[in-house]
Amino acid sequence: MKEYYVLTAKDFYDGLKEDKLLGLRCKECGQITCPPLPTCQWCGSKDLEKTELSGNGEILTFTLTDVPPEGFEPHYIVCLVRLDEGPTIMGRLDYDAEKVTVKYERSQELIGKKVKAGHIVLPADKYSMGEKLVPLFKVV
Ligand SMILES: [Zn+2]
Repeated sequence: MKEYYVLTAKDFYDGLKEDKLLGLRCKECGQITCPPLPTCQWCGSKDLEKTELSGNGEILTFTLTDVPPEGFEPHYIVCLVRLDEGPTIMGRLDYDAEKVTVKYERSQELIGKKVKAGHIVLPADKYSMGEKLVPLFKVV
């Protein structure tokens, strides 16, 4: 019997702890799905195999959080990154918020910048069941 979940969320986060970005390669269309889903995000096929991604990509968009949700520190940047392998994922951006606010006057200077994925552990808050592991991108 074929294993249904080739890459679980736990597998994904275990990889992320080691700065490895794991995804799924579709055996039908060849596209990459990341973060993991039960089916290919492009064609819906369940014929997937686990693959390690480069972690390289470029910033599609970002936002600077001035007024954070309860339990978070202000002035962090959330970005949407298109990975070199195709899929887009969200994460934090390791970047000086002052530069985005003052130097660039919240211009779109970060858009299109090349980044590399790592990870960050965020402390637990009242909405979570513990620490949270999220992708952290650094401009390269
Ligand atoms: Zn597919």
